[in-house]
Amino acid sequence: MGDTTAGLVCGHHHLYSALARGMPAPPAQPVDFRSILEQVWWRLDTALDLEMLRWSAMLGALEALQCGTTAIIDHHESPNAIEGSLDVIAAACAEVGVRVSCAYGVTDRHGPDGARRGLAENERYLRAGGRGMVGIHAAFTCSDDTLTAAAGLAAELGAGMHIHVAEGVDDVGAGQRLEHLAAEDWLLVHCVHLDRPLPGTIAHNPRSNMNNAVGYAAPTRWENQVVLGTDGIGADMLEEARLAYVALRAFDVRESPDTVWSWLEAGYRFFPEARDDRVVWSYEHADSAWHVAFTPGVRALHVTAADGEVLLRDGLPTRVDAAEVRAKAAEQAARLFARL
Ligand SMILES: [Zn+2]
Repeated sequence: MGDTTAGLVCGHHHLYSALARGMPAPPAQPVDFRSILEQVWWRLDTALDLEMLRWSAMLGALEALQCGTTAIIDHHESPNAIEGSLDVIAAACAEVGVRVSCAYGVTDRHGPDGARRGLAENERYLRAGGRGMVGIHAAFTCSDDTLTAAAGLAAELGAGMHIHVAEGVDDVGAGQRLEHLAAEDWLLVHCVHLDRPLPGTIAHNPRSNMNNAVGYAAPTRWENQVVLGTDGIGADMLEEARLAYVALRAFDVRESPDTVWSWLEAGYRFFPEARDDRVVWSYEHADSAWHVAFTPGVRALHVTAADGEVLLRDGLPTRVDAAEVRAKAAEQAARLFARL
C-alpha cells in the first residue's frame, strides 16, 4: 500500500475538444447520437484553426498532467486546418511534458479531397518519425475505398489504426465492413453496438457513452484487451476508472475493481515507458484498486518523468505557467465561439 503509482495512460482522447466547454448552444437541440455529432462536434471541428488547436492541446495536456496522466492516445479532426495539425498537438504535449500518440481521423464527410488530405496528414506525420497511429473517424462516415486505403497505410507503416467502432446505432455495420481489414495492432474505440469480434484493443469510454446515451459497451463480453479512455472529457483516469467500475457493476454485480484496473494497466501496451513515470497522490492507498474505487477526489501532487525530471510539483506544472495556459486557452475559446 502506498501513495505512489506509475504515470496513467488515457487510451482515447480528443485534445481539440478542451476548448468546447461553455460553447454556445447549437441551433437545434440534439436528440440522438447522430445529431450530437452534427450539431456540436462537426460544427466545432470545422471552426478550428492551428492556433486554437495549439492552446486546446496545451490545456488538455496540462489538465492531464495535473491528473497524473503522463501519456495520451489522441484522435484528432480539424477539417479546415489539416496539414501540420498533428505536429501542433505533438509539440504542445511535449512542451507540457506529456507523452502523446497522434492520429488524424480520416473521413469522407468533406468529400474525397478531405479524405485524401486527412490520410496524407497521417502519412506525413508518421513518416517524419511522429509517434502515432493512422486515424479513421468511423466506418459510417467513410467509403469502403477510404477504409481500405487507410488500413493499407497503417499496415505499410506498422502503425496500427485508431478508429471509432460502432459507437452509435448509425455504425452497426462497422463489424461487417471492418472484419477483413482489422488487425491486432488496431485500437477499436467504443464498440457499443459491435455485432462480432474484431482483432485489436478496445478503448472503453463509459462517461462519454453515458453522455451521448449510446448504451453500455459491456467490454467484458469480448476477449480483447481493453484500455480506458475519456473521449475528450478531460484525462482524469482515476475518475474515469471509478465511473467505469460502477457502470460495470450496474451491468454485472459480481465484477470487481480489479477488472477496471487491468484496463488502466493495459495502457502500458501503448506507452511502456509511462510505467517508469512516478505519480505521488494525495491519498495513502492510491495504488490499491479497491481503495481508489471508493475514494472520490484523489489528486496528483507530484509527477516525475522516467528520466528524473519533475513535471508537476504540488499540483503545478514545472515547464509551463498554468495560469498563462488557461488565459491563452480562454482567448482562443472566445475566437472559436465567435465562429460558431
Ligand atoms: Zn472519440
